[in-house]
Amino acid sequence: VAPSPALTLEHRFASELGALAVPWTAAAAPDPRLLLLNDTLAAELGLDPDWLRSEEGVRLLVGALVPPGATPVAQAYAGHQFGGWSPRLGDGRALLLGELTDAEGRLRDLHLKGSGRTPFARGGDGLAAVGPMLREYLVSEAMHALGIPTTRALAVTATGQPVRRETVQQGAVLARVASSHLRVGSLQYAAASGDVDLLRRLADHAITRHHPAAAEREDRYRALLEAVVAVQASLVAQWMLVGFVHGVMNTDNVTISGETIDYGPCAFLDAHDPATVFSSIDERGRYAYGNQPAVAEWDLARLAESLLPLLDDDQEQAVALAVESLGQFQPLHEAAWSAGLRAKLGLPASLDPPVAASLVDDLLTLLIGSRADHTSFFRRLGVAARGDAGPVRSLLAHPEPLDDWLDRWRAVGPDAAAMDRVNPCYIPRNHLVEEALTAATLADLGPIRRLLAAVSDPYVERAGLERYAEPAPDDFGRYRTFCGT
Ligand code: AMP
Ligand code: MG
Ligand code: MG
Repeated sequence: VAPSPALTLEHRFASELGALAVPWTAAAAPDPRLLLLNDTLAAELGLDPDWLRSEEGVRLLVGALVPPGATPVAQAYAGHQFGGWSPRLGDGRALLLGELTDAEGRLRDLHLKGSGRTPFARGGDGLAAVGPMLREYLVSEAMHALGIPTTRALAVTATGQPVRRETVQQGAVLARVASSHLRVGSLQYAAASGDVDLLRRLADHAITRHHPAAAEREDRYRALLEAVVAVQASLVAQWMLVGFVHGVMNTDNVTISGETIDYGPCAFLDAHDPATVFSSIDERGRYAYGNQPAVAEWDLARLAESLLPLLDDDQEQAVALAVESLGQFQPLHEAAWSAGLRAKLGLPASLDPPVAASLVDDLLTLLIGSRADHTSFFRRLGVAARGDAGPVRSLLAHPEPLDDWLDRWRAVGPDAAAMDRVNPCYIPRNHLVEEALTAATLADLGPIRRLLAAVSDPYVERAGLERYAEPAPDDFGRYRTFCGT
């Protein structure tokens, strides 16, 4: 097979920001085997899926084949992890292979995760186990199908390298695509270096790649800050609406682009409860479902601090500007969340705002008290809008308090078809994810492929997929997730 003719990788990050890029190569993969390949995404990137499946293509997907002219690098970044400052994190087990221009002319990063130790690995082995990489593939593609900005998964390839965790597992590399891998932690790293010229070049790179409108403002770095505040306010609102719990919103896991990144201990709500925490290491619930907006704002304050030297020569004035820009987070988030909830309830656009607000607020109060399954509750409200309240009532142990609300709500004429376009039927429910990953570790990829097919078209209910639309069985118990695996 000839090399994919479209495969030329640029190295803009590596050349423009060498101080943040350590040229590096992937560890050898003794026996690479492709497990999942995203044909649709490959085509979007101008890559031939048949070539990616070839021996040469698979070598690219584990980092053994470096396209001519490419400069793979480990990226340096810093970050606040659970509030504590780490000046030097960086890609400990990942590589940026380079950038490519997709079919629509957009620049995308091609990145490998699990490709071996780098100079940022600290105590880590640089590797990734197959289960967590399949999990990232599944959940990130589900998020994309839900219409939520996210990094994408191109492929998961087993390496043939055993990985020692609690047990010995199979190693794997995830090939990930993102509009970039710039994080709040990238700017924190540049700011902490004390090199203002580096910080400025990084900010300019971020503006060019993600927020080009900022370049048109005289206060372009403040415009950059405001643009990131806006995309994150919107992103977190979208997470909240679908019940997504990221689980590790450290500043190194908050992108400048506004894409969701780093699918470690994340999971979707079963019961709707703001205190929900899945991650086994999040003992204090810092990253609980209901804390996500406040934590995003905290993370953005760290971005604002990093940008201070660029905001104004007078640092007191710079702080005042930063505070004002950060102040945009709450109203933007609140507006996105409220609009999203009104859409989830199918409320007519013409509805009197105070009436809409009281319907939304009263529903949230009922929902929080009921412990009903988040996803099923909203989807079955669509059935109630069509006249049958039975399915949504059956999710509640005590449905009577819901009845008054249902009467008030039906009286305003909710649009059931519009509701079905925003309330997903299929998400990666925790019990289904576990079932699929357990099968995959026993070499049966059937369940994960079927689950992927369901969540890749989340709003259209299909015959034969009933079990994917059901809440977790009662005996599923409390769900726990793990990161850094
Ligand atoms: P994360 O929790 O995935 O955001 O990762 C935090 C930091 O730990 C990043 O710098 C990662 O590159 C690094 N890291 C996580 N797992 C490993 C590993 N197995 N080997 C080396 N570095 C790792
Ligand atoms: Mg990370
Ligand atoms: Mg991670």
